[in-house]
Amino acid sequence: MRIKILGSAAGGGFPQWNCSCPNCRRFRDGKVRAAARTQTQIAIDANPSYAQRVYWTLINASPDLRQQILAAKELRPFSDGHSSTPIRDIYLTSADVDSVAGLLHLREFQGFRILATPAVRRILQEENSIFRVLGRAAPPVEWVNLEVASPGNTTRKYDPQGPPLLFSRAISLGGEFPDYVSGKLRAILAPEEAVMGFVFDYCGKRLFVSPTLPSSNTGWKDWAASADVVLIDGTFWSDTELLQTGRSKKTAREIGHIPLAGPGGLLEQFPKAPNARKILLHINNTNPILDQDSAEHRAVLAAGFEIAYDGMELTL
Ligand SMILES: [Zn+2]
Repeated sequence: MRIKILGSAAGGGFPQWNCSCPNCRRFRDGKVRAAARTQTQIAIDANPSYAQRVYWTLINASPDLRQQILAAKELRPFSDGHSSTPIRDIYLTSADVDSVAGLLHLREFQGFRILATPAVRRILQEENSIFRVLGRAAPPVEWVNLEVASPGNTTRKYDPQGPPLLFSRAISLGGEFPDYVSGKLRAILAPEEAVMGFVFDYCGKRLFVSPTLPSSNTGWKDWAASADVVLIDGTFWSDTELLQTGRSKKTAREIGHIPLAGPGGLLEQFPKAPNARKILLHINNTNPILDQDSAEHRAVLAAGFEIAYDGMELTL
């Protein structure tokens, strides 16, 4: 399995167009050692070595997806003279704008599959008619309902005798539906379908993906502990980061993200799984770990985490 991080920032990217937090301001002034980042986008290639064509699975469809596709040579159309794409499946972790806006970049009469919980699908298909533009393709974009996996059974799915297959499981992380969802629809949606993580098993290896990790549900820990690579929520350093930088009146936890530091933070809560590669992504522009010379940057590295950057690649 090849994993490409096409984008590694939280909503707004880094720097953010309307933000004058210390990170964004110092970046514009050339006074910080930090890399610009587009909004979080993950791509996975899990194809048998004998496959004629390589197809890719995307996790979410970021608002920056068009430029991210153009920057990745692997995602160019097949050179057979027709409209085509190696993008076959798109898994949605939630109905957040950051997770779904990129679907509108893919509206050029192209068929592919969108895999989402029934709740996320209803939000996009029933209440947000702009996404019906995807139905113009022939064959149309296919929506596939994801079932929420039962907690606890973290057994790997792998048949060494059979063909190499990518197995996926949707893990409920708790959390809330986006603010834009109407009260009427929200009242009938299953809350466990709001924010998902994904576990992918391929040829005996396991990837756990959770760009958004609310603090309400701790079931993710068993999945993270059982994985070889973990791509996990590094949005905020502290719970009060948005208050301190004047970006919001809410804490990190109130908007659905466990902060990295402090009591009950991710660095403290992450299971002691020495074999897992732990990679932080979805990093907000206010987060001091973006500054490569900061104490916070050094602290996450010392805790055994890596910090994702645009263009990061790994093989599993
Ligand atoms: Zn900023």
